[in-house]
Amino acid sequence: MRNNHTMGQHAIVIGASLAGLCAARVLSDHFDRVTVYERDELPDGPANRTAVPQGRHVHLLMARGAAEFEGLFPGLLDDMVAAGVPKLANRPDCIHFGAAGHVLGTKTTLKREFTAYVPSRPHLEWQIRKRALTIPNVELVRTSVAEPVFDAARERVTGVLLEAGDPSSAVDADLVVDATGRGTRLPVWLEQWGYGRPTEDTVDVGIDYATHQVHIPEGIIKEKVVVAGASHDHPVGLGMLLYEDGNWSVTTFGTGKVTPPQNLDEIHRLADELLPEHLSAALRSGTPVGEMAFHKYPTSRWRRYDQMTRFPSGIIPFGDAVVSFNPTYGQGMTMTSIQAGNLRAVLESGHSDIAGQLSRATKKTTWPVWTMNAVGDLALHNATADKVPWWYVKVGNLFDQFLGAAETEADLAEWFLRRFSLLDSLYMVPDARTLGRTIKHNMGLLIAEKRRARRSAPDRERVSL
Ligand SMILES: Cc1cc2nc3c(=O)[nH]c(=O)nc-3n(C[C@H](O)[C@H](O)[C@H](O)COP(=O)(O)OP(=O)(O)OC[C@H]3O[C@@H](n4cnc5c(N)ncnc54)[C@H](O)[C@@H]3O)c2cc1C
Repeated sequence: MRNNHTMGQHAIVIGASLAGLCAARVLSDHFDRVTVYERDELPDGPANRTAVPQGRHVHLLMARGAAEFEGLFPGLLDDMVAAGVPKLANRPDCIHFGAAGHVLGTKTTLKREFTAYVPSRPHLEWQIRKRALTIPNVELVRTSVAEPVFDAARERVTGVLLEAGDPSSAVDADLVVDATGRGTRLPVWLEQWGYGRPTEDTVDVGIDYATHQVHIPEGIIKEKVVVAGASHDHPVGLGMLLYEDGNWSVTTFGTGKVTPPQNLDEIHRLADELLPEHLSAALRSGTPVGEMAFHKYPTSRWRRYDQMTRFPSGIIPFGDAVVSFNPTYGQGMTMTSIQAGNLRAVLESGHSDIAGQLSRATKKTTWPVWTMNAVGDLALHNATADKVPWWYVKVGNLFDQFLGAAETEADLAEWFLRRFSLLDSLYMVPDARTLGRTIKHNMGLLIAEKRRARRSAPDRERVSL
């Protein structure tokens, strides 16, 4: 249904991946027509695509992302479950969750409602694409966009060229959305148009992915999500998700430029080190499906459009084209769904400076998540960056202590699980009560340790104390 705030007749979206489809959904309420251009072949069903190579690796959909996508495309979650997507409803025993070397003590019961869904990346995109295509004023065209058309006199983008240098291939639009992912060329175009490039915040995470699909007979593993994140001392992690096709996607990753396993035998050996025996034994008992897939992700990147003093109207960057997060934390798709919420709010406000309003809103939602990731990467995962604020390592160490306490304190583990899932707040900052429990727990451990040391010390030393 069209909204009261009509922003124009035609909007163009470049890229029909998750960000582009979400943008199209939001724009369809405010523009007469929305055309989405995609250069890649789009399969009829849930299948991997060449232009989305990351889709072959484990993708965790955060509980917050599931709720946001459902808000955009009502009925999505039920349809996914009907298609076999595993659903985790308040069942902590479905999750084995290790973060930075600490296995969270969520095995008891969760106090608050927590529902998560485990679709593969191709399945989620296909479900969303199907829905986007049923919106009457959205059209998806399979062709590449060469570049936006820029009108220097009006300082605005007025459409796109489908063929470079060919004015006859121009398509006019009131708004163009760049949802072309991490490889976006918008910074180059901005420079050509005289605006300069946005500055970039980057963290060199040096992540290397290696994934194998494995079929494990039903019933052997009760968990549906198995995560053993990398830690400072053990820079290789592993994630195993049971997907809708009944196979486990087993992704291993090295952080800080460490090479992950290169074959299934090496994956088994890593699982022996990182997982409880029942999980690693189940993995060994499984049957490999298909070939290994590999992917390198050297750098997390936030293009700071929010800091540009001049920006043309008629174009907005969206999704990974603005910010791509360390994928091992599983936040990219959810943060894209949050950007969609920002876009909706900006369009509903009726404000004419769409790009400025959106980049400010997205800065607010990006900053807490980006900053906590950077703290984790730089303090705990051997990443490097040009500028490292002095307090990062201190906060990282404190957080490591918090995770230590969350191994046995169920309330702390639940708090972490919810914040990690981007529920409640985007800030990973414990309140005073949660912090108090952490300190109490760790002081208890310290005192017990001292007592043990005293008891085992020789009598002579004890007298002299
Ligand atoms: C290894 C890896 C693992 C990840 N794991 C997770 C995870 O566990 N959880 C999570 O939430 N997120 C994860 N992510 C992030 C997630 O994949 C992205 O956030 C998500 O795909 C949204 O990206 P996007 O739509 O902005 O861009 P993309 O998915 O990169 O899509 C860009 C699209 O634009 C099209 N395109 C580009 N140029 C043109 C052009 N000129 N004309 C027409 N079309 C064009 C491309 O063909 C492509 O379809 C991971 C990422 C990586 C790299």
